[in-house]
Amino acid sequence: MKLVDVHCHLNHELFKEDIDTILGRARKSGVKAILISGVNPEANKQVLSFVEKDHSLLKASLGIYPIDALGIQPDGVGLPSHKGPIDLETEFSFLEKNNTKFIAIGEVGMDFHWASKEETYERQAENFRKIIRFAIKLKKPLVIHSRKAEEECVQILSEEIKEQEIPVVNHCFSGGKEVIRKAAALGHYFSIPPNIVKASNFQTLVKMVDIHQLLTETDSPWLSPIKEQKNEPAFVMKSIEKIAEIKQISIEAAASQIWKNYQKVFGTS
Ligand SMILES: [Zn+2]
Repeated sequence: MKLVDVHCHLNHELFKEDIDTILGRARKSGVKAILISGVNPEANKQVLSFVEKDHSLLKASLGIYPIDALGIQPDGVGLPSHKGPIDLETEFSFLEKNNTKFIAIGEVGMDFHWASKEETYERQAENFRKIIRFAIKLKKPLVIHSRKAEEECVQILSEEIKEQEIPVVNHCFSGGKEVIRKAAALGHYFSIPPNIVKASNFQTLVKMVDIHQLLTETDSPWLSPIKEQKNEPAFVMKSIEKIAEIKQISIEAAASQIWKNYQKVFGTS
């Protein structure tokens, strides 16, 4: 069985001590690809050097987190931080120079949890549109963060991306049924974290969306399905098991379809 974690943060300081154990457990569980997401210029550089550890298993997804872009610091995240607002053009030229070293742009999007919609919608939307256009130029898939901004993100993506010219992956998507339907109709993918075992919104999402549009992720170290233990890539198996149960297919069939989806979206073999 081949498993994939399309979104996590193994460069987080919580993994400093036990990264080899964590990677060992992932390999043992059948995880064949792990995408590590950057959130700002400093984190993107760190991700690029981190994936050097094992190029066949680890892949880079480089991004500009909407909150970091504004120069707001989320509390004690444990990832490299950036001082002040991010200059998008400078980061775009860095990404262009390193074009062959990463397979997706993300995480990017909008967030009205850490920043109020009233005060930041215009700036966040403008940044997001620029980033989407840049991803189209580079022909890279997008990995979207849309906390408390699901409708707004789907709307902007629908305006900016024509004819599904690049794939869109909604990571940890928490939108309601109507916006799930809209995103699915646009051909978006959804990556499902292991806490689907207890989170009914992800169960509903999996019921509603065709398996050809599903992927698996962990968002490690966050969103652990197990209390008192940080999340890790090996736990994508829990997502697969729950998807198989909901879709009433075998675990092998679920894993195999999701692996195919991964290859299709990220152009990997
Ligand atoms: Zn994340």
